[in-house]
Amino acid sequence: MTPLGDLLLRRIAAGGPISVAEYMADCLLHPEHGYYTAREPFGAQGDFTTAPEISQLFGEMAGLWLAQAWIDRGRPAPFCLAELGPGRGTLMADIWRVARAVPGFREAARILLVEASPKLRRLQAAALADAAPRWADRAEDLPDLPLFLVANEFFDALPIRQFVRDPGGWRERQVGAQDGRLAFGLGPAAPIAALDRRLDDTAPGEVVEICPALPAIAGEVARRIRAHGGAALFVDYGGWHSRGDTLQAVRRHGRADPLDDPGEADLTAHVDFEALARAAEGCAVSALVPQGVFLERLGITERAQALARGLSGARLDSHVAAHRRLTHPGEMGTVFKTLGIASAGSVPLPGLHPWP
Ligand code: SAH
Repeated sequence: MTPLGDLLLRRIAAGGPISVAEYMADCLLHPEHGYYTAREPFGAQGDFTTAPEISQLFGEMAGLWLAQAWIDRGRPAPFCLAELGPGRGTLMADIWRVARAVPGFREAARILLVEASPKLRRLQAAALADAAPRWADRAEDLPDLPLFLVANEFFDALPIRQFVRDPGGWRERQVGAQDGRLAFGLGPAAPIAALDRRLDDTAPGEVVEICPALPAIAGEVARRIRAHGGAALFVDYGGWHSRGDTLQAVRRHGRADPLDDPGEADLTAHVDFEALARAAEGCAVSALVPQGVFLERLGITERAQALARGLSGARLDSHVAAHRRLTHPGEMGTVFKTLGIASAGSVPLPGLHPWP
């Protein structure tokens, strides 16, 4: 058992089982043993790779998306260029580089990174040394400025609660202890008001998930966009609705048991984009568009071909593979989805058609 596992077993022995959300929160962000606080998760040496780490193409498309959205909204200056959960800072660094091509954008931008992990903040500072970023702990600390924001694989890292439908209501899935090891169990059945409408589309025995932090964070972003103008792009894996148990652990690029090695594996859950769209009420919300379709609409293939002209041999092969990985339906192209929000009544967002 990991040091965090021992700590959790002691806490459970003293206070009883904890919710999946409490378990996930400690595994990811425990100040000493949390996965994001203590480890270097990304890249070939780490546990998983994200789109910006696969190729500069992803950040370039995101940068052009933000710049076009900014131009379409009258080039407000100054404005806040923000990212939620920037990881190693690669995405924002690519955005910053490509934005050099857009007159006035960099001069008007004030970069704000919402990041909980001090360790990752240091990596972000190094990646963005020429961009003078600032940091915030929470979305509530975003400034009162027009807001142009991106978040890639951020919401999937937020803790979720899981409920199993039961004839007598909903039973919360919990993490307890059995024979000296962490084990899943179920709490008592109770009605849950937030899940009332899920009685229509689930049957007893089915699992639904709620991400308690998501409405607050997405709502905060939407509130600023309503008040000051702007746009936000959310990219994540998930779908339109929470359905089933999607809690997943990844370690060294492979699936692991979520209760093995707490603090040493990445834990994620599918993002419920309907909950994101609901939290953005009052904004214009786009349809949910698969990542591959979105990137194609923005011209990723033309850009990939232009970059390919300067490459040969193994570098060309890996460039072609990266383009395929980001866009192909069998890879990240359909599992990952994009959703955009903007101030109501404004020009449609690049690459995203309006929500019907
Ligand atoms: N966007 C990056 C990294 C995704 S991993 C990429 O695409 O490569 C998730 C990121 O969100 C990490 O930077 C993690 O430290 C951060 N994070 C997770 N939970 C957070 C929270 N509650 N508040 C702020 N940042 C958080």
